[in-house]
Amino acid sequence: MLVSFQPFIFVAMSNELYIYNSLTREKQLFNPLNPPFVGMYVCGPTVYNEVHLGNLRTFISFDLIYRWLTVLGYKVRYVRNITDVGHLENDADEGEDKISQRARLEQLEPMEIVQKYTNRFHEVLNVFRCIPPSIEPTATGHLIEQIDLIRIILSKGFAYEVNGSVYFDVKKYAEYYNYGVLSGRNIEELLSGTRDLDGQEEKRNPLDFALWKKAGATHIMRWPSPWGEGFPGWHLECSAMSTKYLGTTFDIHGGGMDLKFPHHECEIAQHCAAHENAPVNYWIHGNMLTLNGKKMSKSDGNFVLPFDLTNGTPPLVDKPYSPLSVRFFMLQAHYGSTLDLSMEALSASDKAFRRLQQAIKDVATISPGATASDFDAQEWANNCKSAMNDDFNSPILIAHLFDAVKIVNACKDKKRSLDALQLTILKDNLNLYFYQVLGLDNPESASSQTELLDGVMNLILDLRKAAREQKDWNTSDKIRNTLQSLDIVIKDGKDGSTWQINN
Ligand code: AMP
Ligand code: ZN
Repeated sequence: MLVSFQPFIFVAMSNELYIYNSLTREKQLFNPLNPPFVGMYVCGPTVYNEVHLGNLRTFISFDLIYRWLTVLGYKVRYVRNITDVGHLENDADEGEDKISQRARLEQLEPMEIVQKYTNRFHEVLNVFRCIPPSIEPTATGHLIEQIDLIRIILSKGFAYEVNGSVYFDVKKYAEYYNYGVLSGRNIEELLSGTRDLDGQEEKRNPLDFALWKKAGATHIMRWPSPWGEGFPGWHLECSAMSTKYLGTTFDIHGGGMDLKFPHHECEIAQHCAAHENAPVNYWIHGNMLTLNGKKMSKSDGNFVLPFDLTNGTPPLVDKPYSPLSVRFFMLQAHYGSTLDLSMEALSASDKAFRRLQQAIKDVATISPGATASDFDAQEWANNCKSAMNDDFNSPILIAHLFDAVKIVNACKDKKRSLDALQLTILKDNLNLYFYQVLGLDNPESASSQTELLDGVMNLILDLRKAAREQKDWNTSDKIRNTLQSLDIVIKDGKDGSTWQINN
C-alpha cells in the first residue's frame, strides 16, 4: 500500500513551486494570495531608445516565469508598464528629460518618440518569443492615479510640498517603517554617505525623492496638478498602476537587479506610506547581462542591440544568430545569475540549440518498440518539472532535456528502443518544455517549417538520385557540397540517402 502511494506523494511535492524572494533573501514556497489567480507586475522599459540585449534578458526571464506559472495552472494577470514620461537622471538634474532630449535629437514630438520606441520594443519582444502581458499600462495614461497617490501620501504626513514640487520624506517614513527592507541598505549609512544636498535645496534631506516635480519653463512633458504644472517622480507610476490593476497586496513584483534600489525600495515606501501595508509578497530580481564583464548599459556605450545579433552586425557580432538561439543562450543561465555575452559562448550555445532542435524533430519520427529499455521516462519528466519548480531553474531543465536528446539519438540509431508509454511521455514532455515553457518556437510554425524543409529536401535527394543513376557525378557532387556548406549532411545508405542538419 505504502509503495503504491509513493508516486502521488512525489508528484504532490514536485508540484510545489519555490521562489527566491529578494525581500526575505531565501527560497520560499509559493503561496499565491488568491489561487488559482496570480498577480504579477514587472517594470517595463522607458521608451526613449532601443532596448538593448540586457533589457531583453530581463524580459525573457519574466517571460519564462510567466510561462511556467501558466503551465502550473495559475491564471496569471501579468502587468508590465511602459514608462513614457521622461524622467530626469536624478532629482538634482534640472535639465531636459530623456524623452524630450531624444525628441529634439530626432526632430520629433516627445509622443512620437514614445510611440516609435514602444513599437520597436514590441517588435523585439515578439521576435524573441515573449508573450505579451495581460495589461500594459502607460505612465501618461495614469496621471490621475499618480496624483491621487501623492494626495494620500501627503495626507498621511509622509510627504511635503515645496514650490510646486512634492517630495517623499524618507526620514519621517523611517520612524515608522523599515526603509531599506528590500535592498538591505541602512538609512544611517545612506544618510552619512549623502550629507550634501548638492543643488537639491528644496529637499529636507538628501534621501528624499520627488513624487511630483515642478516643470521648468522649457520642460515639454508637463501636466496640471494641485501643485501646479509638472510631472510625476520616477518611482510613482509603478506604485499607482500595480495597485490599480493588482490590488493593495499582490503576489509577484519583478524587474532587473539594478532596480532594487532606489526604485523598488521607494515603491515599497510609497505604498506603505499610503496604504499601511506591504505591496508585494514575492520580489523577484533578474540578474544582469554583462559584456566584457561589465553590466550592459546604453549610457556607458557597453551594449549590443538584439537585432545586431540576428543581423550579425560587425565588428562585435561574428555571424547572424537566430532569435531562438539567442533566447536559448539566455535561458541556459539561471535568471538570478549574471550572464556574460561573448561570441564563443553564443556560438557554443547555438550548436547546442540546434542539437536540441534536431532531437525535437527526430522524436516525432521514432516508433515505439516492443520492449521497454531502462530509461525511466516518468522520473525524467518529474526531474524536468522539479527543476522548474526550483526557482525556475532553466539551466537544470535544459541539462535534463539533453539527457533526453541522447535517448532520442540512440533510438534513431536503433541502439535503444522505447515502449509506447515511454515514448509518449518523452515526446509530450520534450514538446511541452521546448515549445511552451522555454518558448523556443511555436509548434505550428515549427511544424510547418519542418514540413516545408522536409519537402524541399526530399525533392533535392530525388534529383540527386536521378543524377547518380545517369552517372552525372558533377551534379551529384555539387548538390552534396552545396548542402554541406549549409551544414546539411547527406548520408548514402543501402536503403537510399538520408539528410541531417549538422551539429
Ligand atoms: P530600463 O528601461 O532602463 O528601466 O530597463 C528595463 C529593464 O531592463 C529593467 O528591468 C532593468 O533592470 C533591466 N536591465 C537594464 N540593464 C540590464 C542588463 N545589463 N541586464 C539585464 N537587465 C537589465
Ligand atoms: Zn517600476
